[in-house]
Amino acid sequence: MGQATRTTKLPLDLGKRRDGGANTGKRAALAATVEVLNAARSFYIDFFLAHAEKLSERVSYYSEKHLELRTRAISANELLTWAEACTVETKEHPHPSSGWTVTSRFPHLPFIYRRSVIKDAIGKVRSYLSNRANWQKTGKRKGRPGWPGPADHPTLYQGTYTLHLESTEVTSRFVQLKVYDGKAWVWVKYPVRCSRYFEQRSHEQAWEHKSPILVLSQHDASLHFPQTKEIKAKKVMESKQDPDLVTVAVDLNVRNLAVITVRQHGRILETVFVTDHGLDAHRYRHLKYLAKKQWLSGKPVKGEHSNQQLWQHVDHLNEDAAHKTARSIANVCAKYPGCVLLFERLRKIKAHGESRSRRMNRKRANQLRGKINQYAKQKAYAGGTVTVEVNPHGTSQYCARCGQKGKRIKLKWGKLFWCPHCGYEVNADYNGSVNVHHSFFKQWHWQPRLKRSG
Ligand SMILES: [Zn+2]
Repeated sequence: MGQATRTTKLPLDLGKRRDGGANTGKRAALAATVEVLNAARSFYIDFFLAHAEKLSERVSYYSEKHLELRTRAISANELLTWAEACTVETKEHPHPSSGWTVTSRFPHLPFIYRRSVIKDAIGKVRSYLSNRANWQKTGKRKGRPGWPGPADHPTLYQGTYTLHLESTEVTSRFVQLKVYDGKAWVWVKYPVRCSRYFEQRSHEQAWEHKSPILVLSQHDASLHFPQTKEIKAKKVMESKQDPDLVTVAVDLNVRNLAVITVRQHGRILETVFVTDHGLDAHRYRHLKYLAKKQWLSGKPVKGEHSNQQLWQHVDHLNEDAAHKTARSIANVCAKYPGCVLLFERLRKIKAHGESRSRRMNRKRANQLRGKINQYAKQKAYAGGTVTVEVNPHGTSQYCARCGQKGKRIKLKWGKLFWCPHCGYEVNADYNGSVNVHHSFFKQWHWQPRLKRSG
């Protein structure tokens, strides 16, 4: 049993009001809300750091199982209750611990926001303290863990938001958020850009909804809806015993983003080539332009990003190609229930001393391969397919038909694999993909070496 997770984004419409977007007052309220929540988070981080001994407190309890008094670490919920008692003014406790009154610093902060902020702070301070303890044990000067920062995206628990997406009219779909408008906490309606993907995903029965997160960046805002699904999948060791096992192997490359081969009973049933449709060349042209601009303007200033939009475009190209390729891989897996997905452990495709723009392009091609690998794993797992990483050694050098070492010949359309022993001629990426199956079943070159005796 495992759990698959995915996130669906619901962008808030912050466009011009004439076009149905939110007005500037509403936008300012979002920024003010995040600011208040960050301030409250930093307040509680300071509070917990000042009371660090409380976090490592042991509480005693009576164990029914062992019929004796035992001790355990204090739980996050107990810390939450304790922190509220220390910082929140009530009629019974008019003066909580001196100096730490949250009610006067953040008047009328809704208690749900307060609790989510406290929970965040507990997590951050706990991880900081344990990282620091580990660092102190090493006795090195380097690697001191950073002070916990307050910036984060607030989680919207029940009671801080309501969705109104049922309406068929696009213009009347909105989300209501409890936000701070500079004076008080009020409910404000924000128009959203609801897509059919979002609707489809929110109605799928198998997926369980979690509390959304408000993600605010410089130019846009969106709600991220995490969902989880219980997955029943066989263990790989079990599957490997099955003589009818179907394996789906993927070879990731530059121009052929993915070559997918499906094998059963030692025969290849299906092959899918996912090409990049000229992405590599397209990205290279942009990077050439960027490299030239950087060269003309001297050294790039550290921490400052010039040509922002073009960089963003290049990133989007990669992200989009990664999701699409991963989807094709997951679709092939979905056709063969119970199959196992095989990837090579990623190796870097090196750029050999070429121009700066070529090296930058190669770097992004490697990033893309990493992303395809990651997304395909996630998407396949949501469909119940488990992924195995196999030994990549020699998958592109050995013949997939006879197992001898062959040659790769560069041609205009790509690379050809040629085996001088059996005369096999085939697309080099296809040859690599078929070898991934051999590597999984430990055939030929990938046989475990016998240990030398005596
Ligand atoms: Zn051969």
